[in-house]
Amino acid sequence: MALDEYRRKRDFTKTPEPDGAAAPRPRATDDRLFFSVQKHLASHLHYDLRLEWKGVLLSWAIPKGPSIDPSDKRLAMQTEDHPYEYGTFEGVIPEGYGAGIVMLWDRGTWTPESPDVDAALRKGDLKFTLDGYKLKGSWVLVRTRGFGSGSKPSWLLIKHRDDWAGPVDITEFAPLSVKTPEADFADILAADNPAVWRSNAPAKSGDAGKLFQRIIAQAVAMKTADTKVTKDGHPTKSTKRRATPSPKATKSTKRKSGTRRSPR
Ligand code: MN
Repeated sequence: MALDEYRRKRDFTKTPEPDGAAAPRPRATDDRLFFSVQKHLASHLHYDLRLEWKGVLLSWAIPKGPSIDPSDKRLAMQTEDHPYEYGTFEGVIPEGYGAGIVMLWDRGTWTPESPDVDAALRKGDLKFTLDGYKLKGSWVLVRTRGFGSGSKPSWLLIKHRDDWAGPVDITEFAPLSVKTPEADFADILAADNPAVWRSNAPAKSGDAGKLFQRIIAQAVAMKTADTKVTKDGHPTKSTKRRATPSPKATKSTKRKSGTRRSPR
């Protein structure tokens, strides 16, 4: 599986995404296979499922995100294979293909239930188990026919009935990053350059356009607040969600930061 298409779509002088130059991940036969889901606000909000296979990440874009309710069949459009090191990427793609904000929404390992993965992929029926922070248990990807657009096949991602299934909207219930604690899109943008799309957001209309406007405004506000708080010139994280931490957390945080930030 080559990364030609992945590389052709991107200008690595303009995107922080990995160029895939690293050698495919060498792995012992007993290594667990990596999986992740990246929440990606681009021209539309979607979730990218990545399954490590033969040194690269098989990839599907899921417009509505995964559902742990077995009655939901979620459209999953296969996209180009991504380099292994892409799997934990989180950050801002300022321009070009996929321009927007990427959040590492879930990560963990996956285990094929289909005995022959390549045959299952050819057949269009891949059963597997996920062991992530948010997604667990048994799933299936089933290829559909003549559904969707473009050259890449469309699949459906479906949760099997097991202890990890339930009538919960997991994307609403657990919306934040598993890489940067408590981070949402605005935090990720604020940590980068919140003004990057001041005049030219990757989506200008519709739901994604509105979401971008709100997130850009939040990120700019966080950055401004940080600048006021930080007297020693060191970047600090936004305190927006720490307004109501547990009493224990407040104490220890105050003590620690008091020690650190009072150099006089
Ligand atoms: Mn994407």
